[in-house]
Amino acid sequence: MALLKEVKEYYGDVELYIDGEFRKSESDNFMEVMNPALDKPIGRVPFATPEEVDEAVDAAVAAFERWRDVPVPNRVQYLFRMKEVLERHKEEIARIIVQNHGKHIDEARGEVRRAIENVEAAIGAAYILAKGEALDQVAPSIDEYVVREPLGAFVIISPFNFPVMVPFWFMPYALAVGATVVIKPSEITPIPFYWVNKLLDEVGLPPGVVNVVYGRAEVGERLITHPDIQGVAFVGSTAVARKIYELAGRHGKRVLLQAGAKNYSVVMPDADMDRAATNLISSFFGNTGQRCLANAVLVPVGDAYQKIVPKFVELAKGMKLGYGLDEDVDMTPLVSRKALERVHRYIEIGLEEGARLTLDGRNPVVDGYPDGYFIGPTIFEDVTPDMRIAQEEIFGPVASIIKAESLDEAIEMANSTIYGNASSIFTSSGRVAREFRRRIKAGNIGINVGIAAPMAFYPFAGMKESFFGVIHGQITSVHFFTDTKVVIERWW
Ligand code: NAD
Repeated sequence: MALLKEVKEYYGDVELYIDGEFRKSESDNFMEVMNPALDKPIGRVPFATPEEVDEAVDAAVAAFERWRDVPVPNRVQYLFRMKEVLERHKEEIARIIVQNHGKHIDEARGEVRRAIENVEAAIGAAYILAKGEALDQVAPSIDEYVVREPLGAFVIISPFNFPVMVPFWFMPYALAVGATVVIKPSEITPIPFYWVNKLLDEVGLPPGVVNVVYGRAEVGERLITHPDIQGVAFVGSTAVARKIYELAGRHGKRVLLQAGAKNYSVVMPDADMDRAATNLISSFFGNTGQRCLANAVLVPVGDAYQKIVPKFVELAKGMKLGYGLDEDVDMTPLVSRKALERVHRYIEIGLEEGARLTLDGRNPVVDGYPDGYFIGPTIFEDVTPDMRIAQEEIFGPVASIIKAESLDEAIEMANSTIYGNASSIFTSSGRVAREFRRRIKAGNIGINVGIAAPMAFYPFAGMKESFFGVIHGQITSVHFFTDTKVVIERWW
């Protein structure tokens, strides 16, 4: 069934949000923002000028002392209002995500739900996690206690693939504990957060508590290195995370950097193959492979190969491509023409490396959307662990299949990349699942679950080069935005 196609056809120029005011950027550098299913512009995003970036930071810094003084129960009221506004507009936000990112409407609805869950978790965190500890009478007439205090103004930099959810992995927690923020969404998908920003304006936060600027690397780096910024929460690729890690280190900033992925999924011979196949299809090809938790390499162990691979290939062949606003499609376009070219390049690399292309998703014919950045499910067999298609992040719907003879060999393969974001196993053995969980070097483990996405009230981060820093995202980011003081107090 086709849904109402558009909320709006064109969103115009994205505006900056500084000190509680929307304003047109003075920049003469704007980029067109595209709808990837239609290959049509839906707006323009400015690359903020250095002065605008500094003004956003100044606003966040000026707002901080006032915001931290707002009593916790009053601060939390703004988050309740934020939840209410997002709930009221959730369908419209989801549709705008589809228009700019291209994902399926259900995936977009899920994204908005996750954003709201993070607001809910932040409300709880404000009361529980931000609380200190006290011990009476550590010495005669002396008590000792810890208070947790917000540190100041922080930067949040988000990737293209979850344009609404990712800023909410951090922003509600910062606000809950009395910190202020400058957010820089992805320049590729800025419109959904711009729209959310307009809605958040209804929440009536004091000016400067949340500021939003747009741009690319230059804007991000100016924000991070600004002397008044305390730290940066970033989600994006490993290449950029590495750069930010170094830059932030040189400038003495805190970091919480969630980075790239190459996730392996192991199928044991005792797995429920029908369930595993359905789950794997969604994990490999959902969101057109553009999830940091997407599976990218399938490792059937022993005779699991014959049991799972034909089912997996059959289901992949049956996937229907189309526009994400049509509820009955299974797969949607990649985010940009550049992304499509990158994925095509990786398919060429796989062929050059000698892998067998079992299913070729290139150049599909998609009824009604001849210009979209589409590619269908693509499956390589006869892949070996040393191949680039087994090691590097493709970030598209390309599955590499490698056969393993034993669980040990499968675990060794899964641990062989520079990444450690997620890993899954499908089995009916608790012992095998436990061993896998203990030996895999990844931050998110799925047991009979293909997309191991932690709920808002759990930490979220990977290991190895999928993460740089110490404190993880979502609820634990409360600790990122705060520090503790110990007070030793004598009254006699
Ligand atoms: P990206 O690294 O290209 O960009 C991410 C953000 O960083 C964008 O806002 C971009 O403008 C900004 N940026 C780029 N260069 C910068 C610099 N030098 N300094 C400061 N900011 C800079 O990533 P992307 O293509 O938008 O997103 C896809 C990547 O994100 C994939 O690698 C994916 O695995 C990863 N990702 C990871 C997680 C996770 O939780 N680990 C979640 C979602 C996406």
